[in-house]
Amino acid sequence: MSEAFTHKGLESPRLMSEMLLSHVLGCQRLRLYMEPDRPATELERNNLRDLVARALKHEPVQYLVGEAWFFGLAFAVDKRVLIPRPETQVIVEYVLQHARNTSGFGGSAGDGVLLADVCTGSGCIASSLLFSMKNARAIATDISPDALAVARLNAVRQGVIDRLDLLQGDLLAPLAEHPIARSHGSLHYLVSNPPYIPDSEWDAVEPNVKDHEPAIALRGGPDGLDFVRPIFAGAAPLLREGGLILVEVAAARAEEAEAIARSTPGLRDVRILRDLANLPRVIVATKSA
Ligand code: GLN
Repeated sequence: MSEAFTHKGLESPRLMSEMLLSHVLGCQRLRLYMEPDRPATELERNNLRDLVARALKHEPVQYLVGEAWFFGLAFAVDKRVLIPRPETQVIVEYVLQHARNTSGFGGSAGDGVLLADVCTGSGCIASSLLFSMKNARAIATDISPDALAVARLNAVRQGVIDRLDLLQGDLLAPLAEHPIARSHGSLHYLVSNPPYIPDSEWDAVEPNVKDHEPAIALRGGPDGLDFVRPIFAGAAPLLREGGLILVEVAAARAEEAEAIARSTPGLRDVRILRDLANLPRVIVATKSA
């Protein structure tokens, strides 16, 4: 199976094979190595054959097994949402570190902290942050009611639904209706992984992404900044002094996105964070006084 995946040019063939196999056998991946000789039943073999055939047609394995890992947590995923990517963890890690090290930002439990996650999708950023900051609250927005249904499921799964408000609407618009966020200067953090693939890069996107993940969660217009611009433009008034905005962007557009943030009134200390592949990936800025 692993060789067939390699041959088709699928990413992480061995991991993908293990994910499918453990899914079909209903066990954890480690057990595959503990009982290497257990014969599979006919039903298991048929299920596996079916899933492998679909994976070879570039259906993402995370959709086939209904799950993706992010920040050490298992999130439910299906074709209604973008599959969480490891690079997005940069946002979660940065916020947690900032909260721990900055007085007035709630410490490691996030006491009194209010976050907004715009374009939440599966809810992986908001739920991971609330999972780690046990006393923080969050508002997550998405234009897609389908995505919000998945985000809700995941917030229940991670035990954070009591501290999360899920709101449907375009970018920052739902925040203007929220009883707390609408009073200016209430947010400690505004985070977002908006759709950001530029039209010019769309043709080159891998088939597992382009043909199966929701285009609405991926495409960011001609330069990939169609959503990045209005998020920066509207964020400053919502943030409290010293609060942070963190937005994930296309690596090739990071400098332009940085320039947008620098020219936004009310923001200071604009910087770029690199992801695990050392690509410029997240623009951070601080709300000025
Ligand atoms: N990182 C994703 C990809 O390149 C894009 C995610 C996004 O548009 N927010 O496949």
